[in-house]
Amino acid sequence: MLKLNQVSARYNILTGYVKAVDKVDFEVRRNEIFGIAGESGCGKSTLLKVMYDLIDYPLEISSGSVEVHTTGKKGEPVVYRNGEIHKSWWKDISYVPQGAMHVMNPVTRVKHQFFDTISKFHGVKDKRTLEHEIVAYLKELDLPPDVLKAYPHQLSGGMRQRVLIALATFLHPSIVLADEPTTALDVVVQRGILTMLSQVQRKLQNSMVIVSHDMGVHYQITNRMGIMYAGQLIEVGPTEQIFHAPQHPYTKMLIHALPKIGDNSQKEGIPGTPPSLKNPPSGCRFAARCPHATDVCRIVEPERVTVGEGHDASCHLLL
Ligand code: SF4
Ligand code: MG
Repeated sequence: MLKLNQVSARYNILTGYVKAVDKVDFEVRRNEIFGIAGESGCGKSTLLKVMYDLIDYPLEISSGSVEVHTTGKKGEPVVYRNGEIHKSWWKDISYVPQGAMHVMNPVTRVKHQFFDTISKFHGVKDKRTLEHEIVAYLKELDLPPDVLKAYPHQLSGGMRQRVLIALATFLHPSIVLADEPTTALDVVVQRGILTMLSQVQRKLQNSMVIVSHDMGVHYQITNRMGIMYAGQLIEVGPTEQIFHAPQHPYTKMLIHALPKIGDNSQKEGIPGTPPSLKNPPSGCRFAARCPHATDVCRIVEPERVTVGEGHDASCHLLL
């Protein structure tokens, strides 16, 4: 459905480059929710922009490629590569950016945001027919059709997020990308958003990519997931495996730091901070924080090793 081939991306800054994404390689399969986890600043959001081909200066793809695989009008296979993925926006691939408030036009009623987006990407339709279709879709997603009359600020944060998800999925795209869909919402509302995302995925039988720093989100709704560290994907595998048999030392520490039910001991975060992406170290990028680091780790970049069915990690210890 969505394939990333050794993609690197960077921000052009006055004094050089911030290498936010480094040789990332994975694919998202049909009918799955794929999660991308990692600390803030590890390149997750940039990676999502790269997948959506939302490449604006100072961001640029420096190597590798992204492919969106879909089917054309006659059912023939169609591939869009980076540089042309925008042709498939909303219809084949859609994106729910972080911060529902900022992405909606504050002076436009929700109804017109639907009309504008849909007519821009799907051609103009008779407004009355379109409104009927929108109302029907909102009802399917358990959203009150009254939201159409509201301005974004009149809706709660959770409702705005739901409306955005409805808008992004109205044209039944085969891939939906969502950046931190539950951040800044309270726990109950978060759960509602996750339930909605899984419902939509089941209904459309499509693929979703969810970026979140919150491992709980991944545990609740993703089927497979990737862990990012300092711009690199350091482990990818079935979510079950990542939680129950993590292989990379960083993933192990992330999982170990999660609170467990009935365990009230104070959990320590991972000591140290990630390296600068302006001048990333050679060798393994986790070496400065890794309790197992050796001299080899500081010099040689670890290769990706298959550690189980559909489960890969990049660490010298695993060879
Ligand atoms: Fe630690 Fe070395 Fe593995 Fe990196 S390659 S995670 S430093 S053991
Ligand atoms: Mg982010």
